[in-house]
Amino acid sequence: MQLRIFFKTYPETSRCPSCGKIGTIRRSRAKNLFESSIKFTRVANLFKCRECGWRGILKKYMVNKYSFITLAFYIILTVSVAYVIRQVLLKNFGS
Ligand SMILES: [Zn+2]
Repeated sequence: MQLRIFFKTYPETSRCPSCGKIGTIRRSRAKNLFESSIKFTRVANLFKCRECGWRGILKKYMVNKYSFITLAFYIILTVSVAYVIRQVLLKNFGS
C-alpha cells in the first residue's frame, strides 16, 4: 500500500494531447508572466510537442483511487489519535 495522495506524472513519456504520439513532448520555457507563474506553483509545467507543435500546460501530479484511500486512512488515523489523547487527558485531569 502506497501512502501517497499525489502521484507524479511523467509528461515526457506520455501521449501528446494533440497528435497522440508518445515521447514527443518536451518541456517548454515560459514566455510570459502567466506562464512563469504556472511554473512557480510547481504543480504544473509547460510542455511542447516536437511533432505537431502543440504547446500547453500539463499537470505534474495527479490523484487516483489510492489518493482517496490514503486520505480516508489519514482522517481515520487523526480521529483515532485525537480520541486517544482526549481519553488520556480526561483520565489524568478530568473530574
Ligand atoms: Zn503532438
